Amino acid sequence: MDGELAHRLGRVAAITLDVEQDCPPYLETTRGMEQGLPRLLDLFAEKRVKATLFFTAEMAEKYPHLAKRAVDEGHEIGSHGHHHERYDKLAPSEAERLVEKATKILRRYTDNVTSFRAPNLKRPRWLLPILKQHGYTIDSSEALYKPPFPRRPRKEQGLVIIPVSVTSSVLRLPWRLQALIHHALPAPRVYFAHPWEYVDMTRENIRLDCRLNTGETALQLLGALIDTLKREGWIITTITGVAKLMGG
Ligand SMILES: [Zn+2]
Repeated sequence: MDGELAHRLGRVAAITLDVEQDCPPYLETTRGMEQGLPRLLDLFAEKRVKATLFFTAEMAEKYPHLAKRAVDEGHEIGSHGHHHERYDKLAPSEAERLVEKATKILRRYTDNVTSFRAPNLKRPRWLLPILKQHGYTIDSSEALYKPPFPRRPRKEQGLVIIPVSVTSSVLRLPWRLQALIHHALPAPRVYFAHPWEYVDMTRENIRLDCRLNTGETALQLLGALIDTLKREGWIITTITGVAKLMGG
């Protein structure tokens, strides 16, 4: 990253949601959509934060009022694929069919669907030209904490690549512990979470890190993160907002 870019991105953070069924591929329920997402949208309204919601097209079709509400309240809608498919396991022709299908559904709610996040953060490089061809300008499918390193924000094949900073379960750790992790993260900080983390999953038969502090505790912790970022002078924006600051 050059000096000017580093300066412009000095204290920029994005809050993003991967809007999907509960804890894929372990569950098929949608309690996160019914209870979690409305609570998250309420929190964002209360805190005056605009977020990016990467919807699977399937959830946008099943819960159109939530996709509409997100658009009406000024949030960005991005694509999280059609039904949470693993793009790294698909043939390119099938991947393109699903990108196209999902995009068409999501653009019923807003023309501005130009950001993409692959399910499980598994986006093969060959998908980038396909995304570009379907009008995407931003890909947020990489993670700073996953190899190969380093994974910096950059331009590649005509898209702005903006990696996520930490895994979503970090946002459910006890505050003092997660505060240490946040402090060490470089800008732009890109956080992501899922609606199902904001309903009580503690009794579900899923991995412990998927259950820990879910529900009301998670909501309070996310509120604390937003308050702390604001207090420390961070600009909280959408993933497109981050890309604009990068000059993309
Ligand atoms: Zn996902």
